[in-house]
Amino acid sequence: MSTIIKHGIDDSSPSFIRDLDKCIGCTQCVKVCRDVQKIDVYEMFVREDGKKYANTKNEGPVAETNCINCGQCVKVCPVDALRDRNQVEQAEYALANSQKTVLWEVAPSVKNFLGEEFSLQPGDDVTGKIAAALHKLGGLAMDTDFAADVTIMEEATEFLSRMKENSHLPMFTSCCPAWVLHAEMEYPEQLEHLSSTKSPIEIMGSLMKSYYAEKSGLPLESLYHISVVPCTAKKYEAKRPEMTTNGVISIDLVLTAREFATLLKKRNIDLAALQDEKFDPLLSEGSGGGRIFGRSGGVMESALRTASVLATGKKLGKVTFEPVNENDGITAAKLDFDGKEISIAVVNGIGNVQAVMEDVKNGTSPYDFIEVMSCKGGCCAGGGSLGRANRQNIPARISGIDKIDEQRELSNALDNREMMQMYDEYLGKANEGKAHDLLHTHYTKKKSAGSLN
Ligand code: SF4
Ligand code: SF4
Ligand code: SF4
Repeated sequence: MSTIIKHGIDDSSPSFIRDLDKCIGCTQCVKVCRDVQKIDVYEMFVREDGKKYANTKNEGPVAETNCINCGQCVKVCPVDALRDRNQVEQAEYALANSQKTVLWEVAPSVKNFLGEEFSLQPGDDVTGKIAAALHKLGGLAMDTDFAADVTIMEEATEFLSRMKENSHLPMFTSCCPAWVLHAEMEYPEQLEHLSSTKSPIEIMGSLMKSYYAEKSGLPLESLYHISVVPCTAKKYEAKRPEMTTNGVISIDLVLTAREFATLLKKRNIDLAALQDEKFDPLLSEGSGGGRIFGRSGGVMESALRTASVLATGKKLGKVTFEPVNENDGITAAKLDFDGKEISIAVVNGIGNVQAVMEDVKNGTSPYDFIEVMSCKGGCCAGGGSLGRANRQNIPARISGIDKIDEQRELSNALDNREMMQMYDEYLGKANEGKAHDLLHTHYTKKKSAGSLN
C-alpha cells in the first residue's frame, strides 16, 4: 500500500471522491457496501478526538481496494464526504471550444428519472425534453437506446453461436462495468464466460468515432463525445485502454445524471418547461428493448426477444421468472427455442452474484445465460442516479421504463431501421468482421478498483 489516508481528500478512485474530514460517522457507506453489495471496502475508525469516521479497511486509497466503483456508497452518504468526481467544468470547456462538435448520448434510465430534479414525477418520460436541453447546451443529441439495440444484436448473436458450439456457457451479460471489474478481480479464471460485447455507451463511442465520423463528414479529431449515465462505474469504464476505437478514445467525458442536472441548472435550463424535440439522426432510433436496459432483467429480456427471432423466426412469448433466493436477488426461467430448452437467470444486485459464480466455478451451473447488474433494481437505481439514500422512487422509474416499452412501435432490436441500415451499409454481419472489431472487447485479471491493465 502506497499511502495512509486519515484526513482530507482521497481522489484515487476514477469514479468518486472521498473527503474524510467531512465524514460524520453515520456508518451508511459501511453498511451498504458490506451488507447490500457484499464488497466490504470500509470500516469505522475513531479519531484522536473520539469521533467516528469511515475509511477503507487498511486506511489506504480506495482505488487500491476491491471496490467496484458502483457508487452505492456515494448515494447513501448524507454529507458529501463521498461525492461525484465532478466533471461539469470539463463539459463546459468542450461546449465553449469552437474546434469541437459535442456529441451527446443519454442512457436509457436517465430519460425516466431526470425529470424528478425539475419537479416532474418519478418515471415521467423526458426523452423529448432532454433532446431539447441538449440542443440548448450545444452539440448533437444521440440516444443510447440505439446503442442498446446494437448491443443486443451483438450479444444475442454471440449467445446463439455459443449455444451452437456449446462453448463457454453460461454466458454472462457484460454491460455493467462494476460487475465486469468484480469478475476481473474475483473470478479471473471465469472471464471467458462474459460476453465480449461492449456496453451500450462504449458501442455508441465506437460508432461515433467510426461510422458517424464517416457519414457526417465531420473531422474525427473535432468530435467530443459526452455520455450522460446513471452510473459512477462508467467513469472507470471509459478509461479502460481496451475501449478505444482504432486507437482513438471512444468516450471523452462521462457525466453522472447528477452532474448533468447540475449543468442544466448552471445554464438556467428548466427541463420541465421545454417543448419536446427529437434526437438527431443516424444513432438515435431505439426499440422498447433498448429502453428496458434501464431496469434489472431488461438486458436479458431484450437479448432473448432478438435471439428468439434469430433462432426460431418466432416472437418471444411472455417469460415468467421464478425467485431462486430471497428478496428476488436471483430469478430464473426456462424457455423453449423450437424444442431446445434455454435456462436463464437474472442477478439483481452484485451482492447476489457469489452463489451463481460458485456453480460456474464448479462446472455445475444450471444456466445458459445470466444477467448481472450491480445496483439493486438495475441502472435506474444506479450510483450516479438522482436521489441520495432515497429508494422510494425506484418502482415508479421501473414502471415508466416498462410503459415506454409497451408504447413503442418498435419492440425488438431487429425492428430498428436506423440500426439495420448501419449493419447493411457499414458493419456487415453481427459478431463478425468490422462489427466484431468495433463492438467487442476483452477482459483481463485486475488487481484493484483503479487497475487499468
Ligand atoms: S463504490 Fe460500491 S464497491 Fe466501492 S466502496 Fe462504494 S459501495 Fe463499495
Ligand atoms: S456515509 Fe458518508 S458520512 Fe456516513 S460514514 Fe460514510 S463517509 Fe461518513
Ligand atoms: S447496474 Fe447500471 S448503474 Fe449500476 S454499476 Fe451497473 S451499469 Fe452502473
